[in-house]
Amino acid sequence: MQSENSTEVKELESNDVREVIVIGGAAAGYTAALYAARANMSPLVFEGVNWGGQLMITSDVENYPGYASGVLGPEMMQDFRSQAERFGAEFVTDDVTKVDFSERPFRVWVGDDEYRAESVIVATGANARQLGLESERTLQGRGVSYCAVCDAAFFRDRTVVVVGGGDSAMEEATFLAKFASKVTVVHRRDVFRASPIMVDRARATEKIEFVLDSVVEEVLGDGVVTGVVVRNVKTDERTEVPADGLFVAIGHDPNTELFKGQLDMDPESGYLITKGKTTETNIPGVFAAGDVQDNVYRQAVTAAGSGCMAALDAERWLSAERGHLLDALAAPRT
Ligand code: NAP
Repeated sequence: MQSENSTEVKELESNDVREVIVIGGAAAGYTAALYAARANMSPLVFEGVNWGGQLMITSDVENYPGYASGVLGPEMMQDFRSQAERFGAEFVTDDVTKVDFSERPFRVWVGDDEYRAESVIVATGANARQLGLESERTLQGRGVSYCAVCDAAFFRDRTVVVVGGGDSAMEEATFLAKFASKVTVVHRRDVFRASPIMVDRARATEKIEFVLDSVVEEVLGDGVVTGVVVRNVKTDERTEVPADGLFVAIGHDPNTELFKGQLDMDPESGYLITKGKTTETNIPGVFAAGDVQDNVYRQAVTAAGSGCMAALDAERWLSAERGHLLDALAAPRT
């Protein structure tokens, strides 16, 4: 989505070195920008063409503290953005195409345009994997969800389908069973990737039913989800399963392609690795916040929290580099 009120950066001199560049425009990136702006670090935020992240495919958000009556995901992201902008954060509504963190100042490119900064906060997020169906896309936020923790409460006494055979699917199905009247887990094989204890827990839950060797081929519904078409991959038989919701729990992909070979990441999952309780990466001066380094909590509020941490870490690091650590907002660590 294009920004409605984007403050495009004007006439950046090629020799400008920013104090901090934030890569990523969603809960973590905007919060990092807000804190950095309020610490007079003049952040430049590469928010991406599709700024807003996963909240842009979420309708009602009822678990973000401070929005007592709930808020729409896209509206919340606009609020985050406006708040950072109010304190002077500048935005480039484009995708970063290349980075070089091998020497300081760090360099970031959008096409041929090069930007430089003393510190960088990476907050590029992760994307929930999608089934890739046209009907799934149309009904996102209208019964199609990628987060049971966020949306389960909307399905009290209703029926839902969960797709996936990993720990997430088992965990989400078990959680959903606390609300829904019936949960049908659809998995494409008859063997689970999930750990046996998670499968056993789901199997022991009365409301959960399994449909194995099957894939969801279409999401049904005109405006809201009313069911799914399931195809058995062995017999090719198609069945309509009535449901009020579809939870796709087939994993997440962190957006870390840009940083391969530069930032330490988990070799299997690709999530960035941060040190201990900090947002520090393997490169001093480069910090990571939000879902790009968190494959456990993945909530807007935890992403925002780690965005705040990254800005404080960056400010503290810059102050230390300049020899006046005590000027930093964040208290020096022992
Ligand atoms: P995952 O382990 O990668 O499992 C993804 C599941 O979705 C697999 O069963 C896979 O099927 C299926 N799948 C993938 N693409 C699909 C598609 N296009 N159509 C249909 N099905 C598809 O992902 P995850 O469950 O999100 O777990 C990620 C990591 O987090 C794992 O290491 C997991 O142990 C961990 N985790 C732990 C907990 C916990 O311990 N409480 C909870 C959640 C996650 P196949 O099996 O056929 O490939």
